[in-house]
Amino acid sequence: MFVAKNDEPKFAFDAPRMNGKNFVSPAKGQWSMEQYFAREGVDPLRYAFEGKIAVHPGAGGKRIQPSMVEQTLEDLSQKPRTGLSVAYIHVPFCETQCLYCGFYTKAYGKEQSAQYVDALIREMQLWDGRPAQSQGPVHAVYFGGGTPTALEAADLERLLKAVRTYLPLANDCEITVEGRLHHFNQEKMEACFAGGANRFSLGVQSFSTEIRQSMGRLAPREAVMRGLETLMGYGQAAVIVDLIYGFPNQSMEIWLEDIQTAMDLELDGMDCYQLNIFSQTPLGKAIREGRMPPAADIPMQSSMFAASVEKLQKAFYYRLSLTHWARSSRERNLYNQYVKGSANCLAFGPGAGGNLAGWFFIHQNRYDAWLEHVNSGKKPTAMIMAPSPHFYLYRAVAFALEHGWIDMDALEKKFGVELSALLEPLLEQWQRAGLVAVSEKKAVLTLAGQFWQVNISQLMQDFLKHYLEDSELTGRVADASGA
Ligand code: SF4
Repeated sequence: MFVAKNDEPKFAFDAPRMNGKNFVSPAKGQWSMEQYFAREGVDPLRYAFEGKIAVHPGAGGKRIQPSMVEQTLEDLSQKPRTGLSVAYIHVPFCETQCLYCGFYTKAYGKEQSAQYVDALIREMQLWDGRPAQSQGPVHAVYFGGGTPTALEAADLERLLKAVRTYLPLANDCEITVEGRLHHFNQEKMEACFAGGANRFSLGVQSFSTEIRQSMGRLAPREAVMRGLETLMGYGQAAVIVDLIYGFPNQSMEIWLEDIQTAMDLELDGMDCYQLNIFSQTPLGKAIREGRMPPAADIPMQSSMFAASVEKLQKAFYYRLSLTHWARSSRERNLYNQYVKGSANCLAFGPGAGGNLAGWFFIHQNRYDAWLEHVNSGKKPTAMIMAPSPHFYLYRAVAFALEHGWIDMDALEKKFGVELSALLEPLLEQWQRAGLVAVSEKKAVLTLAGQFWQVNISQLMQDFLKHYLEDSELTGRVADASGA
């Protein structure tokens, strides 16, 4: 979801930067087409933009007054969910902090496991029987963090069982447990199976012992491989790993070896993510202070991305999204796909965020505040955003671009917005810049466009938002497109 995290990369640049300046969505009356353009006359894979921009959560919408949060929640809880739905369960603890991680929140101690799971189950009980939670199938559940696999075996099992008790899971529900292999022993694996987990997403990041340990990952290559083999050996669940490119000292050779190792293990799938760096993380500080060499720059990262695409395509892996590759049909990656579209998302745990029919909400981020709410029988929601009138269109655009192409004709029919005419000036420029190929109302991202997909998606959504929600702009867009 847009908060805590899922198996998306847990990093973003400190400030979104575009063409040398911090990128901000243009305010009313300060709009210009150029703000959305890419560089032309350069190698688009490496230089189309200066940096990746951060994705804004929520697809538009307005924050509601704090005094209205309780009543809004009450109203939302009484409406049955319709359409696709997922659930996100957040486990905020980690045994150690990985140097690059901007999402580390709470050190883990064994004694916290039972208390935390008790509280999570109480949180699920708060809306038990309310239509928003109890009606309509839930198609995917994701235990993310933090490190869900840090929890004790008995607690993992009863948490998974509680999810089956309090959420109406679809018969083919994907149930993912995210985690790391360190301390994920067979007792815990078997507890997850007993609770019904059918997918594991493990943050390996790199198989190189040197790279792993320089980033604060504890287990060496051999232990990671043994753990994955053990988990795969049960034959009970899809097993996928996250890999990251761009770490300091991670050459192209090491990166391609990381992918080869995942392929040799015959895992069900893998995510290939780009490293982004927060300056306040230990890695950001170490690089700034010269204690660690710099991470790969954007041109190098783009080469690593292109090399991974070539390698996986040659091996006939298929893409479930631009970052996610599957080897077997056991892997579906449902949660991550649905949550980026317009699916409802029930969310539990401190800092977790969800969405009900376009109403985004986020829980108390501070553990104590979250616990206090739950213990006093209150939903721990800190903030709610009312949906933009075009919420479903924006999410459909984001979902399409996650998969590398957009069918404007289909979206026009579905949403009654003249998308191809509206986007024409933007797509023409991006086509000249080498990021998209447009034909018959379909825009397909080139390899360079795929690398810059986050920018393209956010810029397109911002462009649509400003056009559709600020009537002053209509004329200017028409002028720019020569209409
Ligand atoms: S295990 Fe490492 S990468 Fe994952 S949330 Fe914890 S600190 Fe971050």
